[in-house]
Amino acid sequence: MAVQATGICICGSGQLSTMRCGRCVKPVCEECKIERDGQVYCSLECAEVAQRYLESEDAGRNISRARPVGIFGMIFGLFCFAVIGWLVWWLFFGGPGPDRLRQMIGI
Ligand SMILES: [Zn+2]
Ligand SMILES: [Zn+2]
Repeated sequence: MAVQATGICICGSGQLSTMRCGRCVKPVCEECKIERDGQVYCSLECAEVAQRYLESEDAGRNISRARPVGIFGMIFGLFCFAVIGWLVWWLFFGGPGPDRLRQMIGI
């Protein structure tokens, strides 16, 4: 017996399936669906496997993307702030120009 997209649920309740499992894509009905974080699954096993996968994805995202962007963004922000501060000082308040600044730093 082939399972159709909107066929009878495979659980045997005879109900028309309205949703599909978020992991194995089996049709599930109101009787046998298991809800986790707004997703519908056909069984506890599917819900747990899908949840573990989502958690590992979240952990990977935190390590590889969020942290470096945060640190580099902060350093870049401070650098821009310093450059703008110096430009205002030099142009409007008679602070050291580029040549004088190079001498001060020793380049
Ligand atoms: Zn499933
Ligand atoms: Zn069912």
